[in-house]
Amino acid sequence: MERGVTLHRAIEVACAEPMTRRTEIVTLDEARGRILSDPLSSKVDDPHFDNSAMDGFAVKSSDCSSTETRLEIIGTSQAGGDQPPSVGKGQACRIMTGAPVPSGADAIVMIEDTVIEGNHVVITGPARVEYIRHRAENLAQGQEALPKGTQLGAAELALAATMGHGEIEVVAKPKIAILSTGDELVPAGSEINSGQIYESNSHAISALVERMGCEAIRLESVPDSLEELQNTFDSLTEYDAIITSGGVSMGDWDLVRKLMEDEGNIHFWRMKVRPGGPPLFGTWKGTPLIGLPGNPVSSQVVFHILVAPWIQHSLQTHPELGPSLSDKVRVRLKNPLRGAPEKLCLRRIKISIEGNDLVAESHTHQGSGNLHSMVAHNGLTLLPPDTAGKVGDVIDALWLR
Ligand code: AMP
Ligand code: MG
Repeated sequence: MERGVTLHRAIEVACAEPMTRRTEIVTLDEARGRILSDPLSSKVDDPHFDNSAMDGFAVKSSDCSSTETRLEIIGTSQAGGDQPPSVGKGQACRIMTGAPVPSGADAIVMIEDTVIEGNHVVITGPARVEYIRHRAENLAQGQEALPKGTQLGAAELALAATMGHGEIEVVAKPKIAILSTGDELVPAGSEINSGQIYESNSHAISALVERMGCEAIRLESVPDSLEELQNTFDSLTEYDAIITSGGVSMGDWDLVRKLMEDEGNIHFWRMKVRPGGPPLFGTWKGTPLIGLPGNPVSSQVVFHILVAPWIQHSLQTHPELGPSLSDKVRVRLKNPLRGAPEKLCLRRIKISIEGNDLVAESHTHQGSGNLHSMVAHNGLTLLPPDTAGKVGDVIDALWLR
């Protein structure tokens, strides 16, 4: 077991024990928010045929070089309609936006630039070749348009449909069991006695797990009992991973750590970060297990900096197009911020845009039990060990999405 590792090393160690990645085929309706398992190429040319970008008339541009040309109207090309008649010299075909361009025509005149006289049309404006959208000008059949690991949002789903895919192969959502530990925890909504607190971590962690493209299975909290903890862990080995919170510090009642030391396999324990120093990573009978700190802020912070990259690695998500909870940015400090000795310091900051800069302020106090600080702020500093932030300093930060 490694102790007291840097964040960089912690991610490296965790990524050596990824979750199993499986794939499944789903319909486009079921694919919303899912992650592409392989690159997706187009099954068709897009557009599928030359079509008009305007309502107007399809013409031969050579007919329209002089002003006030008069052409015979020979028919209509409608979107989704029959093949239009071919356009000969001195002729024009009515055409709707998206309708196929008749053979013989090489330009479109906008309806606004025409005057209709019986079965003739007088052309009063330009005949433009650019008003024809050519076959395959967006995408050619076989062309790869969506990389592996892309999360399928609105634009990606629409493009997949355009490319002819009714079903898509996506990464199967890993099932992650989420478990909080502590005698003091009671479920939200129930009676609370002195000495008890409402359990909140499992709700935050479940939400974060789902945003990363996984399925969260949120369990009831487990009291501080080695036996109950062991039985619960044993019942969870079918899941792809277990994420616990609480019970990983130095105290006698930090039983997740103790149980993992005695019966499990710890790869690292403790990270040189503040807040969020105590986490552990290992396996319980072959299943990856991440022990997050109990402090509500710390558990979320550690998820952002350690668990999210581990899930991205496990699912082989795309660095820009895959699921992500934050963006790394540079911010100018408006308040001084204390750093931490020998630890990467993740203070909560409110990032906003000021002129051409991103600026960061810090409002509420930073106690790792103060959950409101995670709502009042939208970012985390990445202050290097032993480094304080002065007003005006430009530092690295995570802008939480
Ligand atoms: P622990 O790491 O178990 O010592 O917990 C550290 C602090 O976080 C204690 O004040 C706990 O009461 C609190 N805590 C632990 N687990 C949770 C949870 N699931 N929800 C809210 N607070 C928690
Ligand atoms: Mg505890």
